[in-house]
Amino acid sequence: SPDRVFNFAAGPATLPECVIRKAQAELVNYRGSGMSIMEMSHRGKEFDGVIKKAEADLRALLGISDEYAVLFLQGGGTTQFAAVPLNLCTPEDAADYLVTGSWGDKAYKEAQKYCKANLIWTGKHEKYTKIPAFDQIQQNPDAKYLHICANETIHGVEFKDYPVPAGKDAVLVADMSSNFCSKPVDVSTFGMIYAGAQKNVGPSGVTIVIVRKDLLGKAQPITPVMLDLKVQADSASLYNTPPCLAIYICGLVFEDLLEQGGLAEVEKKNVHKAGILYDAIDGSGGFYVCPVEKSVRSFMNVPFTLTKSDLEKKFIEEAAKEGMVQLKGHRSVGGVRASIYNAMPLAGVEKLVAFMKDFQARHP
Ligand code: PMP
Repeated sequence: SPDRVFNFAAGPATLPECVIRKAQAELVNYRGSGMSIMEMSHRGKEFDGVIKKAEADLRALLGISDEYAVLFLQGGGTTQFAAVPLNLCTPEDAADYLVTGSWGDKAYKEAQKYCKANLIWTGKHEKYTKIPAFDQIQQNPDAKYLHICANETIHGVEFKDYPVPAGKDAVLVADMSSNFCSKPVDVSTFGMIYAGAQKNVGPSGVTIVIVRKDLLGKAQPITPVMLDLKVQADSASLYNTPPCLAIYICGLVFEDLLEQGGLAEVEKKNVHKAGILYDAIDGSGGFYVCPVEKSVRSFMNVPFTLTKSDLEKKFIEEAAKEGMVQLKGHRSVGGVRASIYNAMPLAGVEKLVAFMKDFQARHP
């Protein structure tokens, strides 16, 4: 609707308008209960229905088998940086980190507190614009897991396929915070996937964890009970009071994704949206530049700079005046970043591309 802007924020980020309107319509009196989701017991029948439906719909979207637990937790992706080694390693165990951006680097640094974390590759010296060929990285044969960040939100680097962990019983672990549910993923190739909801599937406050059940039950003794994934799985994410409202909104988003035809359909739209934006950048004759190697460019977060860098501030301000907001790059890298998650309509990307062309024409 005309009173909504095109919000290119990296997270919390734009959500489908239909989801927000549905939540609004149900807010005051949730399905005849006489109260809102925010006011009811997390152990009552209404909320039980909400969380079970959210889990079932997510399982349907990603094709998640019964071998995996699906958890709705708190603490954001950042808390999982610690929960991963605490649950999958002893302090003496090795774990490999392939770092393609600053979120993967944060995960690596946190893991050093709880296990022997190895940095097997980092793109830092090339300003995080690449992913290495998998046969060129040296994994540790005794590592318990290989950790990647599937989509680096700040640097716009996204894995298009995945490395296979080298160790005999090693598993692949992925932070999918910023591309969760943007495309089909074969969950069975991962030991664990985690994602803060606030980019692609809901509001902040809930973190989704998908973990193979046979990996659980070996948490380090110092693990806080809230971070023990076995405890969380055994209590179906209700060990303590969960973020009820956030889980409910995620459930509405999952319903919407299913109605759109599932993640293969969603991926098609995302590929199309990202394609027209990257084409506009690459076709600008160097006016706009995306530093990321073409084969690993993110379909979710598109970072670019203006070669005439003194015009960037003006670009961002003028775009905002035209209803395209939150285009400023992350404070650590500057430039422009357009986050174009599932809920960004094609019309938003088309309007941005038209604006980019017009802006360039006005600044020859
Ligand atoms: N991982 C990635 C890929 C992210 O983009 C972010 C947040 N921007 C985080 C982890 C941290 O998430 P949170 O703020 O939910 O802890």
